[in-house]
Amino acid sequence: MADQIPMTIGGGDVATSGAFDVVDPATGLPFGSAPECTEAQLDEAMRTAQDAYRTWRKDEDARREILRASADAVLAATDDIAPLLTQEQGKPLADAQMEVRSVALWLRYFANLEVADEVLADDENVHIRVERRPLGVVAAITPWNFPLSLAAWKIAPALRAGNTMVLKPSPYTPLATLKLGQVLAPILPAGVLNVVSGSDPLGANMTSHPVPRKISFTGSVGTGKYVAAAAAPDLKRITLELGGNDPAILLDDVDPQAVAEKLFWSAFRNNGQVCSAVKRVYAPESKYDEVVEALAAVARSAKVGAGIDPATQLGPLNNRPQRDRVENLVQDAVSRGAQAVTGGARVDGPGYFYQPTILRGATDGMAVVDEEQFGPVLPVLPYSSVADALERANGTNFGLSGSVWGADADRAEAVAEELDCGTAWVNTHLALRPDQPFGGAKWSGVGVENGHWGLSSFTETKVLHRSRR
Ligand code: NAD
Repeated sequence: MADQIPMTIGGGDVATSGAFDVVDPATGLPFGSAPECTEAQLDEAMRTAQDAYRTWRKDEDARREILRASADAVLAATDDIAPLLTQEQGKPLADAQMEVRSVALWLRYFANLEVADEVLADDENVHIRVERRPLGVVAAITPWNFPLSLAAWKIAPALRAGNTMVLKPSPYTPLATLKLGQVLAPILPAGVLNVVSGSDPLGANMTSHPVPRKISFTGSVGTGKYVAAAAAPDLKRITLELGGNDPAILLDDVDPQAVAEKLFWSAFRNNGQVCSAVKRVYAPESKYDEVVEALAAVARSAKVGAGIDPATQLGPLNNRPQRDRVENLVQDAVSRGAQAVTGGARVDGPGYFYQPTILRGATDGMAVVDEEQFGPVLPVLPYSSVADALERANGTNFGLSGSVWGADADRAEAVAEELDCGTAWVNTHLALRPDQPFGGAKWSGVGVENGHWGLSSFTETKVLHRSRR
């Protein structure tokens, strides 16, 4: 069993007497453990973050330099962090390495981002300047699908803006984030980034804690609503990045063979455990069979296995409840008339593996279509007209992202304009960049991350208005 990785509080390693197991989803067996943060330790993390804020907020150039050095340190530690991420999360090692590199990319992007104060007036009468000021301590809470990159989406802009942070990863995937805290501890001033770990109640204790001025949360819609309620009595600022049920609409000029590979990986990347993965495909009736078969062919060729095996393309589901949920969704759909053209069952043996599954004949109203499946299962639904497809694509409380695919990209873009969501892609999906804002419409979120919009969300406006008369 690997050693316990300590928490980072006030720049130092902090262990606890209490700990919880971390399970390798490829075996179903515990392989390490993480500290269970006590209330007193959480208080200490908040206190040290508050202390550090007094100095950290003052020197923007120093913050930029330190974030650049942080990016270098993360890159240098790729081989220490990535295998841990694979072992606790399940994803292929190459993807874990890419995720570590994305942390460095985000740190560097926000270190270099230029956002000038806005001068509204500057004449003999008056000088009016609009500044962005940091908020204070940020409580950051992340899920188990991309523990590191989603943490970086918070750490990089929050710290660049002058805030300090207490970060809590999911109890399913705490280790890579704890390791990240250790890697950054020698570079960041003590208390600027504190990493704590624990089970779900620790998240609730963070959101109701009196110190943080902002909660930056990524996770499910259900938990997001608790977070919003917990923030309200103290009027804490919130950014909520929540679940999605992204539709992909294929237009009738699409070539199913040509798009199948890209469309498949838009749905099955990270084994379908992506908030903004394609979760429903709407195909024109005229091309329905061809689309189903083209996707099924890619699914049949995808290599499922342990993330540590270099040949693996699809790892296990991250945890047993999620594997059971995916299994139940498929069983429910099949019992109501859908057909698993390929897949439709667990992979025999240990671990939380599930065969990549393409469903034909699933209909709106089935849970696998209406809810976020968050796993390697994709329902393909026929539509009769583009208006019908759009109505069904938009007819949900989710609104994270969506895509439209077709040979005539202008026509596809016009349809994409009609999607009610935070990001609408044309002939692609899951294309994310640090400078591109990302957030959800409707129940998929409140606020955005990334780009200068994401940086602003860790600030508040201050007006400096000076009379010259
Ligand atoms: P989750 O909501 O169960 O947990 C997310 C985090 O919240 C974990 O760290 C958990 O410990 C913590 N938590 C649990 N209860 C809490 C409470 N009452 N108060 C505060 N924190 C609490 O989500 P999950 O199962 O870990 O992740 C999967 C979900 O995350 C999916 O719905 C997915 O779509 C969503 N997600 C969204 C985005 C996005 O950017 N929109 C990105 C990735 C994942």
